[in-house]
Amino acid sequence: MLAEVEAMYADTQRETGLRGMSPAVRAAMGKVERHRLVPREQQAAAYANRPLPIGNDQTISQPYIVALSADLLAPQADHVVLEVGTGSGYQAAVLAEVVGRVYTIELIEALGRAAESRLQEMGYRNVEVRIGDGYAGWPEKAPYDGIVVTAAAPKIPPALVEQLKPGARMVIPVGADGFIQYLKLVTKRADGGYDEGEVIPVRFVPLVPGKK
Ligand code: SAH
Repeated sequence: MLAEVEAMYADTQRETGLRGMSPAVRAAMGKVERHRLVPREQQAAAYANRPLPIGNDQTISQPYIVALSADLLAPQADHVVLEVGTGSGYQAAVLAEVVGRVYTIELIEALGRAAESRLQEMGYRNVEVRIGDGYAGWPEKAPYDGIVVTAAAPKIPPALVEQLKPGARMVIPVGADGFIQYLKLVTKRADGGYDEGEVIPVRFVPLVPGKK
């Protein structure tokens, strides 16, 4: 799986000038046991470099995208990071290997609770799962050194930008459901505004507006 992920990085590098996989993220990708996060019927494909169904019409993300999203944050060991869209817990586990603390929000209770107990079993003590609507972020734990959104939003949610520290980064797939989406890298400026750039075209499940 790692070799395939690195080959995809090489393509991305040619197209965008992005760096290759950092040693920290590479080590995390090698360490997190993806088979522990996918359903029994998907075990045989656990180390394939593609998304897989996890129930409730949701997917565990493609390893390449998980690595790239982590790398784009420029993660540091003392960072506090928010993830929106816990899903299987895979992205959260990879982030937990490279930063100090991960807060992750999932809208679907069954998925969030299952991910929480798997992450516990896998020994992650620096990940906290909350059930709720990630559009609003997790303001009680803000500000964050980085935010990763793993479902596609039609536009960048202002609450998430607000919860970033100045200079901090957010990786988010942006695009309406059924339309082309781009993985965007958002950098918060000191004046509270932000700069954004398109990294690569992607296909994510939609970020669902939560029930109020
Ligand atoms: N990060 C996951 C991939 C998750 S797929 C992994 O590594 O496996 C996207 C997830 O976002 C789904 O589980 C979906 O239920 C969740 N989601 C969709 N809209 C949401 C919202 N508004 N708030 C929180 N989670 C949301």
